[in-house]
Amino acid sequence: MTEFVYGRVDGLCESVKKYAVMTMDIPWSLVKDRIGGTPTSITMVRGLEHKYLDELVRELPIVDMVVGIGGGVAVDAAKYFAWKRQCSLALVPTIVSVDAYVSPEVAVRDSGVVHYIGKVSPEKIVIDYRAIQSAPRHLNTSGAGDIYSSRTALFDWKLAHEKTGESYDENIAAAARRVLDTLVANADEIKNVTEKGIRTLVELHSEESRLQIQAGKSRPEEGSEHAFFYTLENLTKRAFIHGQVVGTGIYISSHLQTHDEDEAAQVMDSMGLLFRPKDYGISREEFINTILGMRDYSRKGKLPFSILDAADISPQRAARLWDKLSS
Ligand SMILES: [Zn+2]
Repeated sequence: MTEFVYGRVDGLCESVKKYAVMTMDIPWSLVKDRIGGTPTSITMVRGLEHKYLDELVRELPIVDMVVGIGGGVAVDAAKYFAWKRQCSLALVPTIVSVDAYVSPEVAVRDSGVVHYIGKVSPEKIVIDYRAIQSAPRHLNTSGAGDIYSSRTALFDWKLAHEKTGESYDENIAAAARRVLDTLVANADEIKNVTEKGIRTLVELHSEESRLQIQAGKSRPEEGSEHAFFYTLENLTKRAFIHGQVVGTGIYISSHLQTHDEDEAAQVMDSMGLLFRPKDYGISREEFINTILGMRDYSRKGKLPFSILDAADISPQRAARLWDKLSS
């Protein structure tokens, strides 16, 4: 069982004899004077390529614990190290923009393609408010994207159940709707990255992760809105802030599913989730081509059945969405 510590990282490693730190420059500078003890090694992680991670594991000394401090990359590298070495793991996420810190999956990349190769469970997850609040605000608010995505993911799951007979669990769906309600009720705290807002995001990330494990699939959290993210990255070969682009996907899928994209936009604005294309700099052409490419990407990538398989997506419709998002 993972213990969540809310407050400060101070003294976390005070009584650990030998520990390795996997981090990056900025996150390390935020906690190094407070974490306690003396690390046996400090690694500034440069990426998640499988070969590179194996080199790190070979080079590093034997330790009792590895501590991952930072965003997704440092956290994923520490998870890999703990899994390979079978040592204990502590995670200190210094931004809450991605939910890698609550997921048990160990992810690596082979030539850029993500693979999940094992599972690991941290002993402790420390939420250090001071470090998190020092990050740019929009990075933390983007953490709402992977929770609010339930709005459109649940619609797709139900639709697939009705159209294809895919198994559907009403209890899990109801729990995910409660997660959505809690998220929206705390919009203001999230927008202002208060301690309560941070804690809400962490608790809801954990709950979403639990629901996905219970469902045995990502349906409670991932649907057609994620196809927009995957298609855009594939088309442009650029990296984006996950939650922001998922937010655009929620807007588009809400339009295709129920025509209430305006309500979705209002909620995302109230949480400070920057989801408009201008917020992360893609062109009109890239936006439209991504929308028109989503169905194809979804079918080729064998993504589960969704609104993309049922709705009519014309260039005119895509252009109208662009105009609305740019006005
Ligand atoms: Zn996601």
